[in-house]
Amino acid sequence: MSFNNIVGQEVAKKLLLNTLKNGHVSPNYLFHGPEGVGKKSTAIEFVKALNCHQFTELSDNCDKCKNCESIFSNNNPDFDIIEPFKEGRKEQIKTIRIEQIRNIQSKYSFRPVWLKYRIAIINKAELLEEEAANAFLKILEEPPEFTLFILITSNINAILPTIKSRCQSIRFRKLNTTEMKNILDKNISDDILELANGSISRAVKLLEPDYAEFRDKINKFVSALTEDRINALAGLEKMELQEIIIYSQNLYKKELSKRCANPAFTKDTKSFIRFLDAINTCEKAFVALKQNVNKKVILYWLAKQLPSLQQ
Ligand SMILES: [Zn+2]
Repeated sequence: MSFNNIVGQEVAKKLLLNTLKNGHVSPNYLFHGPEGVGKKSTAIEFVKALNCHQFTELSDNCDKCKNCESIFSNNNPDFDIIEPFKEGRKEQIKTIRIEQIRNIQSKYSFRPVWLKYRIAIINKAELLEEEAANAFLKILEEPPEFTLFILITSNINAILPTIKSRCQSIRFRKLNTTEMKNILDKNISDDILELANGSISRAVKLLEPDYAEFRDKINKFVSALTEDRINALAGLEKMELQEIIIYSQNLYKKELSKRCANPAFTKDTKSFIRFLDAINTCEKAFVALKQNVNKKVILYWLAKQLPSLQQ
């Protein structure tokens, strides 16, 4: 893997390459965009490029020097990847905790030894606990010398505006079908590409054998939410139900754009708005689940709001 091998994300890569060329590295970056489109791998390649002993704009990262290797294996004392703390039966993702930020705070007051900067990637920064976000904001307000922070999020609205304003924002977009096929497999089915909606990590999940059952649940979800189905879905873990809602939202988006190709559909304002509302409804249900609203209440509400895709 090297910086120039990242598929897609031409605008983001160009911005970062210009930074490397002119040496104007911002102390804080915010990489934002959909889940699973290469934000974290781009961040790691950027950190490598910044510290590679042999980097040139044309030759890319050498991938062989000590810095390249130790950053790639996350084994360099001056480099950290902060991930949300996981716990529970299924190790469900929880939050980035205050202790994780405090560790950074004390460690990053010292100069780097191996790299040009002390560098931390904060992955899924939307999961910073309130206390942790405030502590992190304090670091950004009085940044120690020689530090570089790269925050990564798929939900930019969940980042404190005061943190956002202190970071250079780099936007990532969802991958197109050709890019997805180049990364995964030329023969990947359209069904999976549609459900994944430009996200490699979602496509990879759908290719796992366990996900045949999961896809069946999605199909039921968008067919009709009968009493039996509501009872079955209410028994799922919150995270799985959230995933089903995201995939279903992707299906509604896809269906809307497909139906819009038919002039009769676009004249039928009522149907058009019903599909548009379905996309927003999924979003609201996702947020309500996050706020621990009762699963059955949400599902009954969805049963009333969502049009069946099998009509
Ligand atoms: Zn190197």
